[in-house]
Amino acid sequence: MQTLHTIADFRRARGKVAGDLGLAPTMGFLHEGHLELVRRARAENDAVAVSIFVNPTQFGPAEDFKEYPRDLDRDLELLAKEGVALVFNPSPEEMYPPGHGTGIDTGPVSAPLEGSRRPGHFRGVATVVAKLFNIVQPNRAYFGQKDAQQVQVIKRMARDLDFPLEIVAVPTVREPDGLAMSSRNIYLDPRQRVAARCLYRGLTLAGERWAQGERDGGALRALVNETIEPEPLAAIDYVSVADVETLHELEGAAGPAALVSVAVRFGKVRLIDNVVLGGV
Ligand code: AMP
Repeated sequence: MQTLHTIADFRRARGKVAGDLGLAPTMGFLHEGHLELVRRARAENDAVAVSIFVNPTQFGPAEDFKEYPRDLDRDLELLAKEGVALVFNPSPEEMYPPGHGTGIDTGPVSAPLEGSRRPGHFRGVATVVAKLFNIVQPNRAYFGQKDAQQVQVIKRMARDLDFPLEIVAVPTVREPDGLAMSSRNIYLDPRQRVAARCLYRGLTLAGERWAQGERDGGALRALVNETIEPEPLAAIDYVSVADVETLHELEGAAGPAALVSVAVRFGKVRLIDNVVLGGV
């Protein structure tokens, strides 16, 4: 496994890779969710590249860029065991030299949900992912369904800007009690960690109600709200029942599929999670 820190070095190493290359972009502090992307990429490509870059431009001024957990040595050990060929780990200065000013606006798909709570977030995400696609030149790129809106934003960008690659969404990997794995989970104190189960509980209940035939967006939203709200350590940011692709809120009867997503704060830690009901 080669670890490269500059764009020029990475391009040289990438040029020697034969066959299809899969890319898993990450911000590091890797867990089983990230490793699942890597395994899927390995299964579907001849070689795998992983980027580890905590991208400053996707964090708001009041967000946790500085506190975001980092452990490069441990990450590299994990990736070596997974048979990764190339790791790209640039500095912020390498990615954004003085004068950098171009940004990608992916339009309406980035407006609701995370986009409305985190202004500029998806411009930061789309721009860094476009740069990574140009640097890494993968045949396929792997993203977690855990960040459902991010998947739609990246698919939109790849279609709109004709990136010659396939975007693959990988199912969310969860802890045994259902909590979606996230690098931020380590910042939950023990009581918050127990309380955080309410996200998955709410999403699971929505799934059960859907299986019983409930299709009303408002009723499903209320059910998830009522499940999370009683938890005293949880502060709901949003509960959404939306169209899977456009992310428009579903008010009346949902179609064949719906994306139920939540953002909830536990103290300073903000967690997101989602399930897709029906459809896929
Ligand atoms: P991050 O390092 O948080 O930016 O995540 C990098 C990639 O891993 C993104 O595509 C995430 O959606 C994905 N990812 C993060 N957590 C999980 C999870 N629990 N299951 C599956 N994929 C995940």
